[in-house]
Amino acid sequence: MFMIPYGRHSISDEDIEAVVRVLRSDFLTQGPRIPEFELQIAKKVNANFAVAVNSATSALHLACLALGVKRGDVVWTSPITFVASANCARYCGAQVDFIDIDTRTYNLSIIKLEEKLELAKKEGRLPKVVIPVHLAGQSCEMSEIKELSKKYHFRIIEDASHAVGGMYKGEPIGNCKYSDISVFSFHPVKIITTGEGGVAVTNDAELNHRMARLRSHGITRSQEEMTIPSEGDWFYQQLELGYNYRMTDLQAALGISQLQRLDEFVSKRHDLASNYDKLLKGKPVISPFQHKDSYSAFHLYIVRLKLEEINVTHRQVFERLRSHGIQVNLHYIPVYRHPYYAKMGYKRQDFPEAEAYYSEAISLPLYPDLTFDQQELVVERLLTPLGHQTIF
Ligand SMILES: *Cc1c(COP(=O)(O)O)cnc(C)c1O
Repeated sequence: MFMIPYGRHSISDEDIEAVVRVLRSDFLTQGPRIPEFELQIAKKVNANFAVAVNSATSALHLACLALGVKRGDVVWTSPITFVASANCARYCGAQVDFIDIDTRTYNLSIIKLEEKLELAKKEGRLPKVVIPVHLAGQSCEMSEIKELSKKYHFRIIEDASHAVGGMYKGEPIGNCKYSDISVFSFHPVKIITTGEGGVAVTNDAELNHRMARLRSHGITRSQEEMTIPSEGDWFYQQLELGYNYRMTDLQAALGISQLQRLDEFVSKRHDLASNYDKLLKGKPVISPFQHKDSYSAFHLYIVRLKLEEINVTHRQVFERLRSHGIQVNLHYIPVYRHPYYAKMGYKRQDFPEAEAYYSEAISLPLYPDLTFDQQELVVERLLTPLGHQTIF
């Protein structure tokens, strides 16, 4: 059946060969490709350290653990994100709260953040960690968030799952200039892929060390960390309760190979985004706003329907596109609407911008191998149910 997905990986012959070479080598996991990938990622985003793991979800969990998030703590994030941005705090027993979004970027609103911090300070409920999410690959206003973190004493984890290859104020997203830790995802719909996979980057040696140890059961093989002298060559100690969040060498090899095309992928995404901008000009949709400080990685191209100008519903537009094989999507259902979170008592009226966004947003297909012809088809199908005449 004819289908245009909303996102899709791009795999080259070089990528395939890189994975096959690992299959023929001595190490399928815990071999030389992992540290090599970590080094290259860190270099690419201008951070000191990288810890490669089996998903961005795991990376977010390790980031929270490394920052000491625990029961009784509060973590704030955006409601317009994938559930993993909030779940990581729940894994640590912390409570989650949300900051309503900015009307233009759909990232968390700095004004709302400041208001909420002031209120939380009075109530003695300040967050331990704030997790800004760079929605669609566009950076949050990180220097403002950093300033607020100094005043209200919280730590920062950037959920940059959408944003590898993007820039903020002319520097790579993930350089951790404005945060403690940044996390990227390498799921196939993201900018580069390792099949499943993620990474946490930081400039802090101690945070790097903690995340690396927790990635593999909390085990150490280093004598300096052991509580007693080694009992022999076999010896290791588990110092705390960690996990098996390791990435394999097969994945790391794919990651290294994909990383070489990162800039090309992002620039292709920009070309496609500009083409959508052009095709949608003057139509009853709002195209993605781009903040002047941000060079987006353009993971997503999100439009909002001007429902007051058209006589069909959001849902009808979705159904129409999907029935034509165009797999549009909605990023995201506000996290507090999911039953697991809803039962914790969040009120929809506390997040009017997230609610308005949810009633109008559509992610159009965007991935490096999408063609201009396919984009024209998408836009034609999008506009047909919007009350525009099409000539057959
Ligand atoms: C994809 C995604 C994640 C989770 O990534 P995985 O690698 O699939 O665990 C987390 N946060 C956001 C914003 C994402 O889009």
